[in-house]
Amino acid sequence: MTKKEIETAEQIKKAVSAIKALRPAYKDLLAFYEKLFLAQETTKSHMRLQPIEIPEDPLAIKRKEKFPLIARKDFTIDIKASETLLREICRLAGEANEVLAPAGLKLMDGLDSGTVDAPTLLSKTLSENDVYFDEMAKSLEIDKEVLLFMAHGSIRPSLSLCAEQLATYIDKDTLWEKGYCPVCGSPPAISILRGEGERFLFCSFCNHEWHSQRIYCPFCENKDQKTLHYFFSEEEEYRVDVCDQCRKYIKTIDTRKIKRPVYPFIEQVATLHLDMLAQHQGLQSGHPLWLKT
Ligand SMILES: [Zn+2]
Ligand SMILES: [Zn+2]
Repeated sequence: MTKKEIETAEQIKKAVSAIKALRPAYKDLLAFYEKLFLAQETTKSHMRLQPIEIPEDPLAIKRKEKFPLIARKDFTIDIKASETLLREICRLAGEANEVLAPAGLKLMDGLDSGTVDAPTLLSKTLSENDVYFDEMAKSLEIDKEVLLFMAHGSIRPSLSLCAEQLATYIDKDTLWEKGYCPVCGSPPAISILRGEGERFLFCSFCNHEWHSQRIYCPFCENKDQKTLHYFFSEEEEYRVDVCDQCRKYIKTIDTRKIKRPVYPFIEQVATLHLDMLAQHQGLQSGHPLWLKT
């Protein structure tokens, strides 16, 4: 493992133990996600992917027009490493709660018996083949969203490595003003305020982190302060940013108010109570919430 990967693993463990102490209701869910995120980090450390080259001409156009660098289907995936991780995710799910456990066991059976071909499942995950997932979920008798969650979880290390390499094409000193990830064009999963209140967004698909404008809706690019507002969680560590124009919300962690270690994707799952609160108000998550356990 590289120094950065060891640091990430430490950050995950510390964030989980701090949140478990603060909000014991999340204990079981966090136990699952801690193992999942650590397994993803370990997979990442074993992987080597060919860099994705973007020729100078299309790159100049993408920069000028503020297009994302690549489409989601154009990421490179280490199929072998993803297949090993997929089996590990099935095993972890099998030990988790009543939503995940049967799905993990059924998918593992499918992989063992050959009903499910792992390389096909993984490449269909990348190409977002909805018909394939509909049929596979039906034949395995697994909820489609849970199947997508497990499949996507297993290609996530590849996506994240690709995004790190592609980020070298991005000028880090310029604010990205668009409502999507500069690497892959997906919506952000969560937002973080740091330092003097600078805002950073984290991609729901490739994990890329980017510096964004402070006041704007990252889904419809609305900048009108009159139609943008937020409400706080009880503990005030988080707030939910709401856009009246598109009726979408994003959760924001204010690290200036938190004295504990933070790992954005752990915060994302440890705040499902805020998703419920927002959805009760008729608001919609700006990115797919595949798992609501
Ligand atoms: Zn992305
Ligand atoms: Zn909006």
